[in-house]
Amino acid sequence: MNVGGTLLLAPRRSEHVACAAGGPVLSAGEITFSDGDVSEITNQSTGFCPEPESWPTVAAALDAIPVDRPDDFTTRVVFRLCPACNERNIVKDGWFVCDLCGADLPENWNFPVARRGT
Ligand SMILES: [Zn+2]
Repeated sequence: MNVGGTLLLAPRRSEHVACAAGGPVLSAGEITFSDGDVSEITNQSTGFCPEPESWPTVAAALDAIPVDRPDDFTTRVVFRLCPACNERNIVKDGWFVCDLCGADLPENWNFPVARRGT
């Protein structure tokens, strides 16, 4: 979803950053429609690593189109950037430790706010 609140859609195998023309975005992830309604939606985007707290902006965009939607992301993904090795991590079960180097990960989201296009 771009900063204007427009929902940009592309086939699942495409790249999120390309879909958003490099960003910046308010949120990003995967969406599944069933019978015309949203059946699954996630913030799973390794390109943008958005916070699950970005849901209200996504909900507002979905409410502008005639579809039923869940009350939150059906899968909430917590991303952190390792301050030691710069690896992107998915935090599971509240375990804030880098999968690659074992360094502690910060409690707060720590990715660059905006990504620049080419
Ligand atoms: Zn690390």
